[in-house]
Amino acid sequence: MSTIIPDTYVVIGNPVAHSKSPAIHARFAAQTGQAIDYRRLQAPLDGFAAAVQAFRQAGGKGANVTVPFKLEAFALATQLTPRAQAAGAVNTLKFDGEEIVGDNTDGIGLVADIVRNAGVALQGKRVLLLGAGGAARGALLPLLEQHPATLTIANRTPARAQDLLTLARPFAGHTALRASSFEALQQAYDVIINATSASLNDQVPPVSPAVFGAHTLAYDMMYAARPTAFLRLAAAHGAACRDGLGMLVEQAAAAFELWRGVRPQTATVLAGLRAELVGG
Ligand code: NDP
Repeated sequence: MSTIIPDTYVVIGNPVAHSKSPAIHARFAAQTGQAIDYRRLQAPLDGFAAAVQAFRQAGGKGANVTVPFKLEAFALATQLTPRAQAAGAVNTLKFDGEEIVGDNTDGIGLVADIVRNAGVALQGKRVLLLGAGGAARGALLPLLEQHPATLTIANRTPARAQDLLTLARPFAGHTALRASSFEALQQAYDVIINATSASLNDQVPPVSPAVFGAHTLAYDMMYAARPTAFLRLAAAHGAACRDGLGMLVEQAAAAFELWRGVRPQTATVLAGLRAELVGG
C-alpha cells in the first residue's frame, strides 16, 4: 500500500494566528480531492526571506503572503506575473524548481467577488476607489481590465492618489482616470470600493453622502461579523452593501488554482465562512 504525502503550503505573516486561509484551503482541498497540507507560518519581522527559504528547503510548494510581507515577497520572487508587477506586491508564491513565482490575486479576487458573486458588472460604470495603499494598488489593473467608464481614486493624502493615477495610466484604455481628495467628491458613483484601512478603527473616510446613489454598490475590502462603519453609512444612504469576505475567498481560489491547476467552487466555502463569522 502506498502512502500519499501531501504537498505543503503556508500562509506567512506577522501576526498570522487569525488568518482564515488554512480553513479556506482545507475546504478547497476536500472539495477538489487534492492532497495538501496548509498551515500558518509566523515569520519574524526581520526574517521573512529566511523563513521562506527554510520552508522551500523542507519541501514546501507555495505560500500565501500577508501583512506586512507583501513587498518583501515581491522582492524575493524570481518571476512575476503581470498583475503582481502592476500591483508592486505579491500575495502568492509558487516554488517551481529554482524559480520563485510571485503573483498577486487580491485584485482579481475583488473583481470576481463584485462581478461574479454580487452580479454587478463594472464595464461602463463609474467606479470610485477610496484609498491608495497596497490593496488599492493591487486592485488597479484588475479593475481597469473590466473597462469601467471612469475610475476615480481618492485618498486622505492626495499625493498618493496622484501616484496611483500615474501607475494606472498605461493600463487605462478608454477609462477616464481621475485623482481626488475625499472632500472634492460630490457626485454619485455606481461602485464605491473602500480600500482604506479606516474600517479597522471603525472610522469612515470623510466622503459626502452625495457619492451614494440608489443604484450604488458600496464595497468594503474589510470584513467583520457586523457591517463596517463605511457600510453602515452607505446603507443609510440607500446603497447596496458588500464586505471583503468574498474577496478573501476568491483571492484564495485563484492562488489554489495557480498551485494545483484546479479551480475550486467558492460559493459554499463563502457561505460556510460567513456563517462562522456571524455565529462568532
Ligand atoms: P495600507 O496601509 O497599505 O493603506 C491604507 C490606506 O488607508 C491608505 O490609503 C491610507 O491613507 C488610508 N487610511 C488609513 N486610515 C484612514 C482613515 N482613518 N481615513 C481615511 N483613510 C485612511 O493598507 P492595505 O492597502 O494593505 O489595506 C487596506 C484595507 O484592505 C484593510 O482594511 C485590509 O484589511 C483590507 N484588505 C482586504 C483584503 C481581503 O482579502 N478582503 C486583502 C487586502 C487588504 P494615507 O495614504 O493618507 O495614509
